[in-house]
Amino acid sequence: MNEFDMIRRYFAAQTQHRADVIHGIGDDAAIVRIPDRQELAITTDTLVEGVHFAVNTLPYDIGYKSLAVNLSDLAAMGATPAWITLALTLPKAADEWLRDFCAGFFALANRFGIQLIGGDLTRGPLSITVQAMGFVPQQQAILRSGARPSDLIYVTGTLGDAGLGLACLQKKIRTREEHEKHALERLLHPEPRLAVGEALRGIASAAIDISDGMSADLGHILDESHVGAVIDVEKLPLSDTLKDSLPAPEAIAMALTAGDDYELCFTIPAHKRDELQSRLSSISCSFTCIGAITAQAGLELLYEDGKKYHGPTKGYEHF
Ligand code: ADP
Ligand code: MG
Repeated sequence: MNEFDMIRRYFAAQTQHRADVIHGIGDDAAIVRIPDRQELAITTDTLVEGVHFAVNTLPYDIGYKSLAVNLSDLAAMGATPAWITLALTLPKAADEWLRDFCAGFFALANRFGIQLIGGDLTRGPLSITVQAMGFVPQQQAILRSGARPSDLIYVTGTLGDAGLGLACLQKKIRTREEHEKHALERLLHPEPRLAVGEALRGIASAAIDISDGMSADLGHILDESHVGAVIDVEKLPLSDTLKDSLPAPEAIAMALTAGDDYELCFTIPAHKRDELQSRLSSISCSFTCIGAITAQAGLELLYEDGKKYHGPTKGYEHF
């Protein structure tokens, strides 16, 4: 099978078709239409074998996650995904690998009505680059820079599970089999919080998705907004899996530092608390207030009794 047959069979044939795509896969570039009064949000992320996923990761899981991490970025902007491109570098043309990769990739793309509109296929060390594009109503994108003193800080879901999954995979931590299974599921199949991101438009003052660890990613909001924060580390939402697998201080450290959770961290003005409750009530995703923004710079991590947390806080860094 040559390159063009592969593109047809695995990519063009499996994607959904949207009315706003004038020309999709097949020409030198795709042609699309942005709806009136919407702005375009564009993001890209690369996954490299041995860096972002272990060498023996299943192609289904790679396909799923390469898209999920990009959709998570759109969610953090409050954008609704529409189109994606996929640049795939493969060591060899492997039918079975591509079939399984696409199963994971399109499971997610088709669930959200997203169209694959183009890409690239090259030979080389395994690497996957996805670009995701989505819409956000004019001026309603949620930035990192909008947090203000006394805003409340929230996170969705639970934190640290993906980190536990990675530690189990690397045989650094052992826990009960059912816990390992749950933690690995969180690591391999993160749920992009798109519905939450959309619901936060007009309410959230700032948002970010947690890819490198909660304290590091909140740190980006603080830097961009020129503010600080106080977090009650005992309010961090921890799953039963994590609490049952690690002693409390280590579970807290995992929740603060482990990447790959792809939950959202966002801030809202305190008076919008009830509106947040009602907007998120119809979405099956928990959310927890963990602290507040301060005028004074810096991230202060406290226990409930006011004592300072002195454990690790550093997130994942590539360089
Ligand atoms: P060109 O050489 O003009 O860049 P290519 O031969 O790379 O075009 O690709 C042919 C068509 O197939 C283009 O429309 C391109 O966007 C699409 N395409 C290539 N690889 C992929 C892929 N992995 N997924 C989706 N579309 C792809
Ligand atoms: Mg061309």
